[in-house]
Amino acid sequence: MKKEYLLTPGPTPVPDAVRLAEAQPIIHHRTAEHAEIFRRVSENLKLIFKTKNVVLTFASSGTGAMEGAIINTLSQGDKALVIRGGKFGERWAEICEVYGVRVIPVDVEWGDTAKPQVIEDCLNKEPDIKAVFTTLCETSTGTLSPIKEYGEIIKKRDNTLLVVDAISGLGACDIEVDNWNVDICVSGSQKGLMLPPGLAFASVNEKTWKFAETSNLPKYYFDWKKAKKSLETKGQTPYTPAISLVIALDQSLKMLKEEGIDNVLKRHNRLADATRAGIKALGLELLSKYPANAVTAVKVPDGIDGLELKKILDNKYGVKVAGGQAHLKGKIFRIAHLGYMGTFDIITAISAVEMTLKDMGHPVEIGKGVKSAEEILRG
Ligand SMILES: *Cc1c(COP(=O)(O)O)cnc(C)c1O
Repeated sequence: MKKEYLLTPGPTPVPDAVRLAEAQPIIHHRTAEHAEIFRRVSENLKLIFKTKNVVLTFASSGTGAMEGAIINTLSQGDKALVIRGGKFGERWAEICEVYGVRVIPVDVEWGDTAKPQVIEDCLNKEPDIKAVFTTLCETSTGTLSPIKEYGEIIKKRDNTLLVVDAISGLGACDIEVDNWNVDICVSGSQKGLMLPPGLAFASVNEKTWKFAETSNLPKYYFDWKKAKKSLETKGQTPYTPAISLVIALDQSLKMLKEEGIDNVLKRHNRLADATRAGIKALGLELLSKYPANAVTAVKVPDGIDGLELKKILDNKYGVKVAGGQAHLKGKIFRIAHLGYMGTFDIITAISAVEMTLKDMGHPVEIGKGVKSAEEILRG
């Protein structure tokens, strides 16, 4: 028997109460019973997004909401600024290109973010840029972007939207959608919201709906106007929702509300601080210049095979972490502190890293990382 510990930045562990909610009998989605639940989750999601505007829910992975953000606001040939500092920033550009949206890239080194001034200069130079696409937590590098500062720049421009991928960030890294002038914020179920994969979300403000009037990109399932109308008039979705996941979401939102969203964020901050302290105490380095509270990316030390390290963590200790993507494959590993996680998930992660490095002949002092983490976790 090998006990498994899922410490990846999506999917993340699901609490028992949420799994049990998901196991409830299927109800029909064109009923008052389902409408009541769907209306309630749509309201409760607003607390997590910190918005008064509508939050739409789709049966898809998070990328579906990213695609929706593009096809509901832009037209072929429109210009979009895309901040690329990792795999998910790149995904914004890839979707834009598929639909014939012209990408103005702002490329930063993986682990870094774009300075707000760079974005402002770019918008001054090309004022017809219709949207800026960015990522709250770039999961591939564990990097937090200065969304609030981007919002200050973009709010002054009536013909430009700020679109944020908060798929891994939501519920771990603070984002105040309304106060920070985020026009569209997208997320998914399998990260901070403590659910299985399968739901995508998008908060959409009034400024965005004006763009939707002129957008001519093709859309059918991800037609946001239809989704909004169905929610507001009937408490429904235009097509069959992921009923079991919606019921599970009702439960996870109840738990997040009970803890209080700001306490949820504080918990993630403490877990992230402890992880970073434990890692540094082992003499390892973080990849990111601006580490996010959802996931910590750690550089594999010289002389250690990163793929082997990940394999030992998994095969010998049952600890699943994420590796590096693209050019960082084998060069970093990523420990999530995201969603349904607490003190002993961090102890487990740091302890397993210590033991694995020792197994691999790296000069680490067993217990040193755990000690540093514990000092913060006791806090
Ligand atoms: C996980 C993730 C995605 C992709 O979500 P899917 O649910 O796999 O489509 C996109 N962006 C970020 C930042 C993510 O962490």
